Amino acid sequence: MYLTIIITILGIANSITAQNQNEKIPGFDLNNLDRSVSPTKDFFQFATGGWQKANPIPETESRWGSFNILYENGQKKIKEIILNTLKNKGPKGSDSQLIGDFYLSAMDSLGIEKAGLEPLAPMLKRIEELRSYKDFPEFFAENRKNGLGSPIGFYIGTDKKDSNTYIAYTSQSGLSLPDKDYYLKDDDRFKKIRAAYMEHLEKMFQLMGDDQKTAIKHANEVFEIEKKLAQVSMSRIDKRRPELTYNKKSISELNQLTPNFNWNKYFSSLGIKTDKIIVSQVDFLKATNNIFKETPIDQWKTYYKWHLIDGFASWLPYQFVQQDFDFNSRVLRGVTQMKSREKRAVRLVNSKLGQPLGRLFVAKYFPESSKKEVEELIENLRAAYIDRVKQLDWMSAETKQKAIEKLKAFTYKIGYPDKWKDYSNVDIVPNSVAHNIMAVGKWQAEDNLSKLGKPVDKTEWGMTPQTVNAYYNPVNNEVVFPAGILQPPFYDPNGDVAINYGAIGGVIGHEFSHGFDDSGSKYDKDGNLNNWWTKEDREKFDAKTKIVVDQFDKYEPLPDVFVQGKLTLGENIADLGGLTLGYYALQKYYKKNGGRKNIAGFTPEQRFYLGWAQVWASNTRPEYVKQQVTTDPHSPSQYRVNGPMSNLEEFWNAWNVKPGDKMYRGDNLQAKIW
Ligand SMILES: [Zn+2]
Repeated sequence: MYLTIIITILGIANSITAQNQNEKIPGFDLNNLDRSVSPTKDFFQFATGGWQKANPIPETESRWGSFNILYENGQKKIKEIILNTLKNKGPKGSDSQLIGDFYLSAMDSLGIEKAGLEPLAPMLKRIEELRSYKDFPEFFAENRKNGLGSPIGFYIGTDKKDSNTYIAYTSQSGLSLPDKDYYLKDDDRFKKIRAAYMEHLEKMFQLMGDDQKTAIKHANEVFEIEKKLAQVSMSRIDKRRPELTYNKKSISELNQLTPNFNWNKYFSSLGIKTDKIIVSQVDFLKATNNIFKETPIDQWKTYYKWHLIDGFASWLPYQFVQQDFDFNSRVLRGVTQMKSREKRAVRLVNSKLGQPLGRLFVAKYFPESSKKEVEELIENLRAAYIDRVKQLDWMSAETKQKAIEKLKAFTYKIGYPDKWKDYSNVDIVPNSVAHNIMAVGKWQAEDNLSKLGKPVDKTEWGMTPQTVNAYYNPVNNEVVFPAGILQPPFYDPNGDVAINYGAIGGVIGHEFSHGFDDSGSKYDKDGNLNNWWTKEDREKFDAKTKIVVDQFDKYEPLPDVFVQGKLTLGENIADLGGLTLGYYALQKYYKKNGGRKNIAGFTPEQRFYLGWAQVWASNTRPEYVKQQVTTDPHSPSQYRVNGPMSNLEEFWNAWNVKPGDKMYRGDNLQAKIW
């Protein structure tokens, strides 16, 4: 038995080093490998160690991975599109006018210096005019209409219990730091960031014209209000539980919840008529009601001024930009050098006018043939998932039936929207970037608020076509794959099929699995928050997810910095599911089309796992990792590879992993759901 293992391992090694040195895997660069590490010990290092060595993090970045490289390539294409619009600028409201003029305004550094804080003057004046907390409803409504923030968020969204209807939602907001933990936790890393934040606030208030003493006073006032809001904010872990955030109230119940905040005034200023609302965080709303009244109005004014300046800081005169960079990029994410104005301007236009840009992007860069091929991939994944559900030994026939119905009902979107949003009435000018940011904010607010009372638009996209990402939307029961992710290393039309199934196949399976993770599994086939599980099956599922939580809780990317198993549970379940489904979809592909062969000494199954690992190849700065584990529901890259793979028998078989190996989680530790 042991002899067989040794021979097999050597067999692989021999075939890699001796027989196939010059053979290439289409869609995978063998230089990415670090052959000094055993794949049975640390697969991430084996599969991406070479890449890591060859791709140090640029000064302007906090994380650098194959994701980022694809993103940067996309940005270059987008820049080219923008520069073209400048050469052929159309009439007011045309895509080329909107895009071209927005870009010019962002590049106009001289104009920005000259204008100073003038573009924000009307809003600063409005804040100065506030007399008491009783003015807040109208003030918040104006902010909302202008695309600016308030401590209480408001939006129109699909009703999670009636997915064909829009309804009003209100949610917690109002913090500047990335998470409530930054205000409250006593660890050294948060203490250090708080000290740096206080310094940042002081400097920003000085730039706004305060002397040092006043700046310190104002900084403290802002921090105290934000800290109070943080104390009553719901944690990210609880926010992931849809049953906690769905609290339907009548407007009179809402007013009883916050007697100091008159919602009728808020709605009438907003031009909204509704008799019900979903309160996402009841405790937060109740508590802010008191904070509104208890905090002197002058302190609130300081707070609102800060939030206004903070929101625009990267597009104000250079001193603001520099100070904003020093805190938000250098301190929080470890970046050492600011991106060029050109790059920042391309990013800004892409984030504000993503759809008009996306239309030009897909016309030039998205081959229609990709759509068909990805459709086939999706259908293979769906079929594999249905097979997997059928063979589960822990789920009852009753729940299986419902799960299969849900899988059959999944819809998908590929590439770009069928229907584009109309931006033609957005007032974009070539000489005021602040004006343009607000103009888009206004348009977005109007677009969102006008939904109330209309039927749900199921064709709408939550991402722009050029985005390098994908998503599952539980209320539509749909998976969405923008053109941006349908490129190498995720999907290579000329790539090896096993690599593609590991990469884009894994991603598609990941998104499908979100429909069955700890949160998505609570929505039924029609996208309604509605339990379709038997009690016993849900208990068994919860017990299985608990193993995943425990596994990831133990990961320690930096000394004393741990992954949060509960925060990342949905994503980790989706990775586990994605790799399982991609694997079986690949088997289906070979069964139907044939063509199995070893390449460069690797079996198709081995290449499948290399394909997934390739997507996660990356280097990260410690500051980035610290922020990631606090705020990001996705685990750090190495665990998105080693975490799921060390649980999978299919992986063990492919790479000859045995009990005792690092990539082998023994029977009672093994997380196995789908
Ligand atoms: Zn995900």
